[in-house]
Amino acid sequence: MKITNVYVERTFNLGNYESCKIGFEANICEGDIPLEVTAELERMAFQHYENTRKPQPKPAPAPAPTTAKTPAAIANEKQTQREQAAKPNPAPSIPQENICPQCGMKKQPQYPVCYNCHMKAQEQT
Ligand SMILES: [Zn+2]
Repeated sequence: MKITNVYVERTFNLGNYESCKIGFEANICEGDIPLEVTAELERMAFQHYENTRKPQPKPAPAPAPTTAKTPAAIANEKQTQREQAAKPNPAPSIPQENICPQCGMKKQPQYPVCYNCHMKAQEQT
């Protein structure tokens, strides 16, 4: 016996009284194993069905794992939120003219240096 070709046909139920029949036929070449070719044709039939069927509606996304929060954890969270809300704006940076060029400390804008540096200068002269 020499098998020269194989044929596989699969019928897929589409629901709603519809079906889809998919068949593949292959010629057996030198070195082919008929059962392997048949299996390949069957895979192809299923693959074709998968590729062409209507996209199924995606299942609803699984709800995020709800890690049960302890009352303490919830209270802690709220406390943190309150602290963040109560946090004052970062201190305004001191304008350059209010910083003593000699020591970097805060000074009155109308004086060239801070009080300490001014006094030191007085002592030296
Ligand atoms: Zn100074």
